[in-house]
Amino acid sequence: MKIQAINGFKDILPDSVGRWQLIEQRARDIFERFGLQEIRMPILEKTELFVRSIGEATDVVEKEMYTFADKGITMRPEATASIMRAFIEHGLHVQQPVQRLYTIGPMFRHERPQMGRLRQFHQLDAEIIGAVEPRIDAELIAMGQMLMDELDLTVSLELNSLGCPECRPPFKTALVAFLEQSIEGLCEDCKRRTHTNPLRVLDCKKPHCRALVQDAPSMLDALCPECDHHFREVQTALQALQIPFQINRFMVRGLDYYTRTTFEFLTTDLGAQAAVGAGGRYDGLIQSLGGPALSGIGFAMGLERIALLMEQQADSQPAGTVMDIFLAALGSDTLGPCSLLAHLLRKAGIKAAIDYSGRSLKAQLKQAGRVRARFTLIVGDEEWARQEGILRNMHTQEQQPFALSGSLEQQCLQLLQCLKTTTK
Ligand code: ATP
Ligand code: MG
Repeated sequence: MKIQAINGFKDILPDSVGRWQLIEQRARDIFERFGLQEIRMPILEKTELFVRSIGEATDVVEKEMYTFADKGITMRPEATASIMRAFIEHGLHVQQPVQRLYTIGPMFRHERPQMGRLRQFHQLDAEIIGAVEPRIDAELIAMGQMLMDELDLTVSLELNSLGCPECRPPFKTALVAFLEQSIEGLCEDCKRRTHTNPLRVLDCKKPHCRALVQDAPSMLDALCPECDHHFREVQTALQALQIPFQINRFMVRGLDYYTRTTFEFLTTDLGAQAAVGAGGRYDGLIQSLGGPALSGIGFAMGLERIALLMEQQADSQPAGTVMDIFLAALGSDTLGPCSLLAHLLRKAGIKAAIDYSGRSLKAQLKQAGRVRARFTLIVGDEEWARQEGILRNMHTQEQQPFALSGSLEQQCLQLLQCLKTTTK
């Protein structure tokens, strides 16, 4: 019996890992241009952390968490809560009042697996903590957009405001009153949500719920003067940075901690999985976790969805590793020196491959092709006796004698020289 991976947990095979590395490198590069520093947290946290931050009545906490109930711990479903826990625990704000942090890693949610939706998935997560200015919101959103742009991905940006603890409760009351009037027309989930998490009804994907909420009151009309001002300033700042966006008053987020600005990077290319990334402000979160009264804003992008989108939109499949040189040692005398030569080349930073099987030249050249070697150095016993090898350019298939005189260290230097000059 073969043992297979768990449903919703996926291997990332060498063929596609190049794309993942490219996304991660580009993300790190851009995040660092914006002054973010990397932080890495454990996968497991106390369950309480997520219940208190994400919220008890959210889908994530209600039904998606991988929890070890007897131990009171949970595999993180997202990164923001963990970052805030670490931020508070280590008093990071004491060193630097505004912290810009990012992390990249796996998250776990028990959802129905499908294209772009897994149970172990990966996020690029960026946070700016300790700054309230609307320009910060715009800067963070612009950073997300820059990543999309530099990966050649077309996404649309939607923006909303969810208000604050001043203006949201009265809005919620008005919304519940509205939903109760037409509760019979809502789906079963939304009937329940009307009382547990009414904002969620606004972004239900079912057509009849959608139609019904068209006439629902809008949070944007209910914003208090401060939230209204903030939202306007964010829009002005985004326009100043030349970042196009649309306002979507039905956008709510699945996590309770959001306040004011929320946003999503959306695509129509991934079926039901519309969001490539999403985020927002969380001005009360740090305090509610026992930390200082600092605000923050962040986003998380799904690596699987970015990778899928690249396949569909850009398909610039980055080639996997290309070896600089393949050493084809053909005789029993040459294997020893060639293995040391390969070792010395690797020490000198060269990607060197070697075959110890003593197979035929044809078989070894085939292998050199498979590992995409730029050159193959062919060394048979006879050539070795003449202190010579044959250097084959794998692209042009040209071959020329290559002197293997002096010590192995000297031969290594000669090869290095040769590889260097041919790259130019
Ligand atoms: P969705 O509405 O698609 O469930 P979400 O609102 O639950 O997304 P967030 O918690 O905001 O997602 O996470 C941010 C990003 O992480 C999403 O935009 C998406 O790209 C990615 N993501 C979330 N859940 C999954 C998952 N189960 N599989 C793959 N990627 C995911
Ligand atoms: Mg979700």
